[in-house]
Amino acid sequence: MRELVEHLASGHKLDAQNLNTLLHGCVEDGDVLQLLRESAVRTAREQFGLGIYVRGLVEVSSYCRADCMYCGLRRSNRSAERYRLTADEILECCKEGYALGFRTFVLQGGEDGTHSDAWLEEVICRIRSNYPDVAITLSLGERSEESYARLRRAGANRYLLRHESADSELYASLHPASRGLEHRLACIEALKRCGYQVGMGMMIGVKGQRIDHIVKDILLMSEYDCEMVGIGPFIPHGATPLGSEPAGDIRLTLATVAIMRLLLPKALIPSTTALATLSPEGRNAGILSGANVVMPNLSPSDVRKKYAIYENKASWGSEAAEGLAALDRELRAIGYHIDFSRGDYIK
Ligand code: SAM
Ligand code: SF4
Repeated sequence: MRELVEHLASGHKLDAQNLNTLLHGCVEDGDVLQLLRESAVRTAREQFGLGIYVRGLVEVSSYCRADCMYCGLRRSNRSAERYRLTADEILECCKEGYALGFRTFVLQGGEDGTHSDAWLEEVICRIRSNYPDVAITLSLGERSEESYARLRRAGANRYLLRHESADSELYASLHPASRGLEHRLACIEALKRCGYQVGMGMMIGVKGQRIDHIVKDILLMSEYDCEMVGIGPFIPHGATPLGSEPAGDIRLTLATVAIMRLLLPKALIPSTTALATLSPEGRNAGILSGANVVMPNLSPSDVRKKYAIYENKASWGSEAAEGLAALDRELRAIGYHIDFSRGDYIK
């Protein structure tokens, strides 16, 4: 196992079989996981030092036309409370965020049918003209290449669109038949052509996922050489078809984060809210596995509960923008601190 970790850490790739062995090793033996995480932390520190980038997350809409089996915002969830922020409300979040020191805003939401290109373009242009020095990240699901190109021209720089699974059968079991893996990957390729820094990723522990599926995910993200990697544990939401499934395994999540850090040393990898939700130590554990980004919530406080992707989602305290001082304290307790710079991907 030690050899596998050293091989990875010295810049070499591992094949599927060795990745499989390593992931199993991490689940079965805490020492192997610890070795892998320490190696990932060394690599992250070489790249980024002890600064952790912060991104202000604005959850722009909880309406969604998609019907992903795992997500509380899915169209079929009639009990979900829906809201959509106005352009002025989004700008207000950015104003507050800018004053707090954020230099990246992430506009994330369900696939809201009312979010026309023209409307989004206007919002992005307003943010861009008020704050020329910020990075604007979008996470608004599947759209046409023409739409991605327009939003890029309006001033968006980055786009998060997790591939969710590199295995077409597993992907199909998690999404309606009308939305296959091929289309998801075509969207990711379109985003790359449009010049976005692109984020891929998946949940760990979603129903039907085996370790060999995770291996495929790792190889796909490595092949696509994506600039950002979002990996978090699956957390059930009662009003979805996966509502009574168990949550994903934290150790396996941390092992996968660490492997991605070693495979893509320069990638921007958040310690996800899902990790922080599952365990009070989750955020720090992500950082101590090679993650280098945190995304505090900047959404207006009255809508945060309604953006319920899964249950009990963390959006307060140090997961909230207004809790930056607490976040910095918690980071300092493990030797890190907040880095307020824009934190672009550097080739
Ligand atoms: N609608 C956009 C999309 O799907 O890309 C952005 C918002 S979506 C809620 C962001 C991510 O949340 C998804 O890519 C998915 O991996 C994650 N997610 C959804 N349901 C989840 C759950 N039950 N547990 C953990 N993560 C979940
Ligand atoms: Fe909609 Fe995204 Fe949730 Fe799928 S994961 S239902 S696209 S918000």
